[in-house]
Amino acid sequence: MRDMMIQYGRKRIEFRLLYSARKTLAIDVHPDLSVVVTAPKDAEDCAVEKKMHKRAAWIVQQQRFFENYLPSIPPRRYVSGETHRYLGRQYRLRIHEGDEDVVKMSRGQINVLLIDPSNKARIKTLVVGWLRQRAEAVFRDLFDGMVAKAERHGITAEDFEIRRMRNRWGSCTTEGRILLNPDLIIAPKQCIEYVIVHELCHLKEHNHSPAFYRLLQVLMPDWEQRRERLNGSVVEDIA
Ligand SMILES: [Zn+2]
Repeated sequence: MRDMMIQYGRKRIEFRLLYSARKTLAIDVHPDLSVVVTAPKDAEDCAVEKKMHKRAAWIVQQQRFFENYLPSIPPRRYVSGETHRYLGRQYRLRIHEGDEDVVKMSRGQINVLLIDPSNKARIKTLVVGWLRQRAEAVFRDLFDGMVAKAERHGITAEDFEIRRMRNRWGSCTTEGRILLNPDLIIAPKQCIEYVIVHELCHLKEHNHSPAFYRLLQVLMPDWEQRRERLNGSVVEDIA
């Protein structure tokens, strides 16, 4: 593992280079804007740098995406008209006076009804709580759907837990639980499902070994497209 960088115009792109048994080069841009490159063991630095230059514009574009859309960066203000992402779509926040404090979704809008619409802290609590409830319901649905399939391939999963993690979408514990970042609720369902399956595979294969990718491939043949959509990651053939 090494930290490297390339110069792209006036921008420095720093990245962490890892080696694996894979034959292709994978570039991942993470939500914390860090860039991780996984290369075949025998890849030469100049070949890696060449690929990074070729993908530099795309990397910067992915970083911009995370800067603009991840709800934690920049912080949301919870005011009427602000856009929020939910399951891969943009919704506009609307604040209304109502008889009770409640969040309702309709036609491209997240409507927050509350007794005192000037109470900004209350608006945030309602929206965050609503998104959390939606995350619990959506993750539950997708997790239950995948667990039966995973079990047929020798994976034993306890359950999942929602946990805020600074720079990752998912993780797993030695006790067989998978951890999901609540911010995943911004992503399309097919991408959330990919994170769940990726972590389920780690319960059996702990590293990103060839056996891990074989298992992932069996459980989710189109995982690469899903990952690309979620993470801003791309796979390149390397000479
Ligand atoms: Zn992994």
